[in-house]
Amino acid sequence: MQDAFLHGTGHDGAAAPSPLDPAAVYRRYGARPWPSARPRVIIVGAGFGGLTAARVLGGKDVDVLVIDRNNYHGFWPLLYQVATAGLEPESVAHPVRAIVRRYSNISFMMAEVLGVDFEQQVVLTAAAYLPYDYLILAAGSANNYFGNEALARHTYGLKDLDDAELLRNAVLANFEYAVSETDRAQRRKLKTLVVVGGGPTGVELAGAFVELINHVLVHDYPMLDISEARVVLVEAGGTVLAAFPEKLQREAIRRLEAMGVEVRLRSPVASVEDGTVTFADGSQIEAGVVVWAAGVRAASLADRLGLRQARGGRIPVEPTLNLPGHPEVFVVGDMAYLESPPRRGRPGAPYPMVAPVAIQMAERAAHNILARIHRKPMRPFRYFDKGNMATIGRRVAVLDAFGIRLSGYLAWAGWLVVHLMSLVGFRNRIVVFLNWAYSYFTYDRGLRLITGPKPAPPGAPVQAAASTTEPRRV
Ligand SMILES: Cc1cc2nc3c(=O)[nH]c(=O)nc-3n(C[C@H](O)[C@H](O)[C@H](O)COP(=O)(O)OP(=O)(O)OC[C@H]3O[C@@H](n4cnc5c(N)ncnc54)[C@H](O)[C@@H]3O)c2cc1C
Repeated sequence: MQDAFLHGTGHDGAAAPSPLDPAAVYRRYGARPWPSARPRVIIVGAGFGGLTAARVLGGKDVDVLVIDRNNYHGFWPLLYQVATAGLEPESVAHPVRAIVRRYSNISFMMAEVLGVDFEQQVVLTAAAYLPYDYLILAAGSANNYFGNEALARHTYGLKDLDDAELLRNAVLANFEYAVSETDRAQRRKLKTLVVVGGGPTGVELAGAFVELINHVLVHDYPMLDISEARVVLVEAGGTVLAAFPEKLQREAIRRLEAMGVEVRLRSPVASVEDGTVTFADGSQIEAGVVVWAAGVRAASLADRLGLRQARGGRIPVEPTLNLPGHPEVFVVGDMAYLESPPRRGRPGAPYPMVAPVAIQMAERAAHNILARIHRKPMRPFRYFDKGNMATIGRRVAVLDAFGIRLSGYLAWAGWLVVHLMSLVGFRNRIVVFLNWAYSYFTYDRGLRLITGPKPAPPGAPVQAAASTTEPRRV
């Protein structure tokens, strides 16, 4: 059947083109005809990696099709502010079409990529088989539940705009439910939030939630005893922000605790069910909302490719970022598994799942495609590490970059500038800047709306949402 699509014939082999005929599909999406004289590059994913690759290939002598399940590019480092009612969802995302339309050789298709036939060089979506000459896989990552998939159904994740809105709605709805709740223990549960995972996302979320409660919800709910509200940051290891130097880790814990976050270290979670968090030592916390920020793995597409997978389901690539044996297929960003070369007698380590790695890998992959087209040798990936930063609250951040280790106000100012400048879209920069300025001076969060379907109280059954392949609470 695939051959019929590839050769532009119908199911019965007649000359009439199938509606799934790649030439027709490419035409419908405003792309150049296929087959074309120019090499066809398909990029799966319009995140940090995919969009960077598209920009490098924009205006070059190739035809590019970017495919993403969403019609927007998400700036995930600010997603926690959407979840904590600090920013509106639209301000941390940008329409992909608005980004690619400036290049006449790039078109966009909103579709879920279901698989790839690497031998036939075809990308499979529900509606089309799309032939390619070169392929860049940049589908990013998903939450890692380490084989305990029940966790996915009983916790909230934070991987995209839908997740952030679900989480914001759940926290705000719980405070509404708490007003009418007559049972004291249940009321306390509704006001308790557990964040599992002491990485940058967990730390930023916990800090922002405690500020939302202490500065905003305390005024919204004068009838509730806010001193009973708890934000608990749970970490299986002995510290938070493991990628930072020890001094900054200690400083982060000190600052979090001073803000009112309960930091619970060396506390692996055994299970979460209906808001009951059970730890490996048997102790329990009752919480209205439990957020899972304890690990990431490659996006589910990586499991459907029939390829060897490394730790976290990531796809091992050559130093030139192509698949072994497939110089026309590149994997970049969170999906790719590549170790840095050994240095000063120390073994190499996997490149971290962070935006700068995705961006730099995508640049290298796109340049390697151009190199192959011009019959030049491909070059290996080299990572330029710009350091790490994470916010802890409205005036505090930790920063470890170029040998400078800072915590406090200056680091926070640096964090603001870097994130503002990295946001895609001038409108987004203005909106985010105004929101930050407003919150900074008023301590208010204007975006504490409960939108969409009303979240169920804790204990209600959990079902999979239609908008994503990953299960979520609704
Ligand atoms: C909440 C959060 C906070 C973060 N904070 C930071 C930070 O402060 N600093 C930092 O450096 N990094 C941070 N990261 C990590 C950073 O966002 C990732 O490393 C980076 O996005 C990876 O880029 P990527 O291109 O591989 O994937 P992404 O940017 O995630 O893009 C993947 C794209 O693929 C699409 N996609 C996935 N599967 C399919 C499919 N089957 N079909 C079609 N499309 C598909 C997705 O919709 C998405 O648009 C954070 C991540 C999260 C979730």
